[in-house]
Amino acid sequence: MVLKNRLTIERLFYYTEKKGKASGFFMDETIFTLRSWPRAILHIDGDAFFTSCEEAIHPEFRGRPIITGGERGIVACASYAAKALGIRRGVALHEARRICPALVVLPSDYETYSLFSKRMFDILRRFTPQVEEYSIDEAFADLTGMRRPLRASYEAIAMKIQETIAREMGITVSAGLGITKVLAKVASKHRKPAGFTAIPGRSIAAYLKGLPVEKIWGIGPATTDYLGKMGIFTALEFARLPEQRVRGLLTKPGVETWQELRGESVYPVLPEAKSVYASIGKTKTFAPPTSDREYLFAHLLRNLESACIKARRYDLAPRRIAAFLKKQDFDMDEAEARFNRPSAHPLELAGLLRGLFDRLFRPRDLYRATGVVLLDLVQDTPVQYSLFEDPLKAEKVRGLYEAVDSMAGKYGKHTLHLGGSHPLDVRGKGRRGAPTIREQTLLFGETSRKHLGLPLFQAESAPSRPLRHPTDPRKHAGKDAVG
Ligand SMILES: [Mg+2]
Repeated sequence: MVLKNRLTIERLFYYTEKKGKASGFFMDETIFTLRSWPRAILHIDGDAFFTSCEEAIHPEFRGRPIITGGERGIVACASYAAKALGIRRGVALHEARRICPALVVLPSDYETYSLFSKRMFDILRRFTPQVEEYSIDEAFADLTGMRRPLRASYEAIAMKIQETIAREMGITVSAGLGITKVLAKVASKHRKPAGFTAIPGRSIAAYLKGLPVEKIWGIGPATTDYLGKMGIFTALEFARLPEQRVRGLLTKPGVETWQELRGESVYPVLPEAKSVYASIGKTKTFAPPTSDREYLFAHLLRNLESACIKARRYDLAPRRIAAFLKKQDFDMDEAEARFNRPSAHPLELAGLLRGLFDRLFRPRDLYRATGVVLLDLVQDTPVQYSLFEDPLKAEKVRGLYEAVDSMAGKYGKHTLHLGGSHPLDVRGKGRRGAPTIREQTLLFGETSRKHLGLPLFQAESAPSRPLRHPTDPRKHAGKDAVG
């Protein structure tokens, strides 16, 4: 398929070079490939996702300028009404309030946003099993071959998905349909919010014409500058460059982006549940600050238990953990340990965590937060236990945690936990401010005692995005870069 496409492209793609400066000439300006849908890839992108979730839960906020991120003093997400006033992500809260005194400021409620995210992905999976959860509010879905079973055109399927999400969840998403992932992304950005854009193979050139290169997914500022120096400013000019030239100029990701822009699919939709985590972190801030040794350790151990639950859900296990204690003055102390084999079983890691805690803890300091980060995550396949270990014991622990997870599914998270984290259940977890909206909200299937346990999705180390420090606790509060 790929080869055939390429031949089609090359036959139509005539190129002349004038005085070393790039300029293209086509027999037919509009055609990259003759076929409209050699494959159909859909990109779904939530519109102002966090605030849209809030508006779905709170009809009274609908259409009003609202922002989330109140707990951090910076705008994490601004509703379209707030955006219209010039309030954008990253703006300081006091500045946002100055622009709009009537602004509704909400704390981030990542648990609710994750729940919406999961529901959105589940809706997509009704139409195709080939769904890639790309971020908390973005997904790719490969619809290729679904026209016959769903008895609809690709465009109709895409619009049906969009309509289902709007009806069932009360939020809008923008959708883009293309013959590659990069083109699907170009399409979903074309019209927002609630937009739908389809770029069939025949229309690629028309959509790339007005698109600046820096807007292309995967093209960073350095490449933009580099291409700019050669007089290449639009996606179309870039896509028209001859293969030899591109291979000579750019590294592999650049070449791949170029191929994808031309309609040659090199990035597959990866339907596995998201398992490419750089790290998994759990933190807990509590009030009032405390210097109670056992209570603090209980929090840290619960952080470890929560992080391990998530790791096990994705069949991952860390080789390294980091623990940190945050003091009242926001100073943070951190310690790390590496294990001889990966494990996502708190029973095996608790001793190590205790050691880290003892290194960090100063009885005279007051602490306001604890956190654990699982690092160097690997696929948790049955491992060769070392000679110095009791393999039977390790297998017993694994079996035990299978039981723990199945109990959690029935009776709620942390139904079975280590004795060391028990003080939390006796003395309470500590609160900072009012309970979150998610804590006060009962969704379908939930009771006041049982809230559905859902994962917090986190930023993965996508190639074009800079990785934040793996133990930066802000990162582990969830992904906040949402447009
Ligand atoms: Mg978005």
